[in-house]
Amino acid sequence: MSSTEVGATTVPVPSQSSYQNRVADYWNAEENPVNLELGKIDDLYHHHYGVGAADVSVLDEPDPELRQERITAELHRLEHAQAELLAERLGPLTPADRVFDAGCGRGGGSVVAHLRHGCGADGVTLSEKQAEFANEQARKRGIDDRVRYHCRNMLDTGLPTGGYAASWNNESTMYVELDLLFAEHARLLRRGGRYVVITGCYNDTYGRASREVSLINAHYICDIHPRSAYFRAMARNRLVPVHVEDLTAATIPYWELRQQAEHLVTGIEETFLGAYRNGSFQYLLIAADRV
Ligand code: SAH
Repeated sequence: MSSTEVGATTVPVPSQSSYQNRVADYWNAEENPVNLELGKIDDLYHHHYGVGAADVSVLDEPDPELRQERITAELHRLEHAQAELLAERLGPLTPADRVFDAGCGRGGGSVVAHLRHGCGADGVTLSEKQAEFANEQARKRGIDDRVRYHCRNMLDTGLPTGGYAASWNNESTMYVELDLLFAEHARLLRRGGRYVVITGCYNDTYGRASREVSLINAHYICDIHPRSAYFRAMARNRLVPVHVEDLTAATIPYWELRQQAEHLVTGIEETFLGAYRNGSFQYLLIAADRV
């Protein structure tokens, strides 16, 4: 805590906002099967959605137990494909490079980047539990000297200026103000470094946030930004887009399969499908160069 003067009274300023405390509480308590059962398959824990064509034949498996297992494995394959799509855009990188994973969850993304590029990684999350879990996974893999997780605010990381060749947000930008976030990425990235974001955003051509987008905000305690906000905030913070990809069509098969996975649904599936189908919501990848 530090203090600030307001008139004659001294008001304490918390080091983390009440909102950030609530987000941390959410992720400290979170134990959804869709996040834990999928990760157990190969110890790559992803807390994001999937992309690509789904093998819907898993739904026809007659043995009920095997059917669940096959659906779980198929959803994990699609989530992993999303992580690979992002990691591919970070390159080229070498083992001498470090990368920064902003809002790292249980850590799967940094491991994927390390395995693909050999780079070192620093991940940050507001959740102490997630950081501990991810560090334990890195220890088990024997990569804890290269891949580290910290319980920190991605807007104020305290990590070294210009220390990173690449950085990203995988479904974590809806928790923060984009100008504050991109200023921190611009600080951490060296000149010529690469920034990548995959995010749900609301579609400016639809208008304002739809009912479905508002329901998603309430479900996750977040504030989804419009597509336009990303480009404005990047332009203001030395990040110049080099590749933009609308992944909306590519993520719908994941949601259609997940909707039918009784053992994994969280209750938000129909809302996501509705939002994508009525055009109010988009799943977007943006890669940018730090100039
Ligand atoms: N990128 C991960 C997890 C996405 S879930 C993945 O792809 O698997 C969203 C994550 O954002 C959570 O880990 C949450 O703790 C983190 N987060 C939200 N606001 C944050 C902030 N201000 N600083 C750091 N992490 C934050």
